[in-house]
Amino acid sequence: RGFCGPHGQPPPLLDPQDIVATWEAISLGRQPVPEYFNFAHDVLDMWSQLEKAGHRPPIPAFWWVNGAGAEVKWNFEQLGQQSRRAANVLRDTCSLQPGDRMMLVLPRLPEWWLVSVACIRTGAVMIPGVSQLTEKDLKYRLQASRAKSIITSDSLAPRVDAISADCPSLQTKLLVSDSSRPGWMNFRKLLREASTEHNCVRTKSQDPLDIYFTSGTTGAPKMVEHSQASYGLGFVASGRQWVDLTKSDIFWNTSDTGWVKAAWTLFSAWPNGSCIFVHELPRVDAKVILNTLSSFPITTLCCVPTIFRLLVQEDLTRYQFQSLKHCLTGGEALNPDVREKWKSQVGLDLHEGYGQSETVVICANSKGMKIKSGSMGKASPPYDVQIVDDEGNILSPGEEGNVAVRVRPARPFCFFSCYLDNPEKTEASERGDFYITGDRAHKDKDGYFWFMGRNDDVINSSSYRIGPVEVESALAEHPAVLEAAVVSSPDPIRGEVVKAFIVLSPTYSSQDPEKLTRELQEHVKRVTAPYKYPRKVTFVSELPKTVSGKIQRSKLRSQEWGRR
Ligand code: ATP
Ligand code: MG
Repeated sequence: RGFCGPHGQPPPLLDPQDIVATWEAISLGRQPVPEYFNFAHDVLDMWSQLEKAGHRPPIPAFWWVNGAGAEVKWNFEQLGQQSRRAANVLRDTCSLQPGDRMMLVLPRLPEWWLVSVACIRTGAVMIPGVSQLTEKDLKYRLQASRAKSIITSDSLAPRVDAISADCPSLQTKLLVSDSSRPGWMNFRKLLREASTEHNCVRTKSQDPLDIYFTSGTTGAPKMVEHSQASYGLGFVASGRQWVDLTKSDIFWNTSDTGWVKAAWTLFSAWPNGSCIFVHELPRVDAKVILNTLSSFPITTLCCVPTIFRLLVQEDLTRYQFQSLKHCLTGGEALNPDVREKWKSQVGLDLHEGYGQSETVVICANSKGMKIKSGSMGKASPPYDVQIVDDEGNILSPGEEGNVAVRVRPARPFCFFSCYLDNPEKTEASERGDFYITGDRAHKDKDGYFWFMGRNDDVINSSSYRIGPVEVESALAEHPAVLEAAVVSSPDPIRGEVVKAFIVLSPTYSSQDPEKLTRELQEHVKRVTAPYKYPRKVTFVSELPKTVSGKIQRSKLRSQEWGRR
């Protein structure tokens, strides 16, 4: 039995509050994880029943728009039908068996959500990727994961064709397109022809659900595997508490489908009965985002800090977001200045969260919690999060150290299973009783965590340890600064010094650089401890970023230190 009912049969009808409360209790670690769990059967099909019984307002479960008039709306019942069709395509046409891997690289098209659910229905392990992947990236990922199948769109198909001869495990290629391509099967056509009858496989809670390649902010991307329960149940509580989702909410997260945040959204919204809103957003455009927020009854918004940095450049008072009530951010540090600008113009706080591909939400500023600007919030249960030294000893409040999650005596169920095919790396990620995130921070006496930087990003100048984010945030408070990245730079006397790469706001771009440099240096000395000021400043037109929008300080650092 699955924990919500026998497989292949409709689950017993329960009160929605009881059901969500049960999932939430498991998610918080207060109830044991069931032996069998399948998100499609136990969560989505359950909501389909609840919806039929009138336990949900008449909003879609999935709502997609492309900004050019096209729209897709599915309730849970329709999502169930469509995803069962998709599951039949994966099982019958692609011969995917439970445990087989499928790479899923699509722009923000409805098929991404369908195929994600279809993988869960068939037991196939999904490997999402971002659409900007190059031939080299695709080859690396297909070879490393030994994926049997790939589904992608017109833009990426030629890149896959260029390397598929080097990927012997790859057996089937599905194209999401209205046209055809030799060597590829047309997914939309297959979907139309497939049956809506499909028996969801029984999956054990520990069976793999997905594999993520990390963003590769530092070094080569690593394969992180999560179980059915880890992702399927691990976001229910943070979905309630941090994202503040209920069955009447419409949640828009602008994240790319290839990044963990798209999965976080799926696995936090649907258990809570919420609607996932998606805009195709072929490119990030502040005006499109703001107009969409004004035109649709979106209640909950999540964007990476980079996007909020763009949004606050606009005159936000010109827009009316009638339904918006809760805003979130995460993925990199949020500069307090951006939070303040958003709040003063929109009237809503930005609730920052912190996590990794390896984990679910580690720290969060939950709804209703006092927000301390600049902090990434408190530990998110069931995690026991501590600041530890390099041997895994817990440090006192205020002391800087490694952000760590307790994995002994018991590893949280909502945690990556391993770095795939890399037991040494998996083992090296632990010290004593803790998993070491690779990030540095301190915790204050109230339990709030203050991010300092990734381990490698912390600057050591004449024995002063300086976190780049603090300097970047100080710079961001100056009107001339649109964005800044701070890294170490070699110095014959101090060993290393603080260097800032700055993208100027358009109105400042023609100012005298030397004068502006001095002004910015004085500004940093005024707003933070003077020893942190950037001794070197360079103005650039853009900062190197990962496709998920994170600043790649490691690239700038290598450039500074003459390393490739
Ligand atoms: P790689 O491990 O390959 O270098 P990555 O760590 O960037 O890639 P992810 O797992 O997507 O890949 O990102 C997690 C990291 O993002 C965290 O370890 C942390 O450094 C950063 N991060 C996430 N949220 C926040 C936040 N709120 N504040 C500061 N940093 C954050
Ligand atoms: Mg990482």
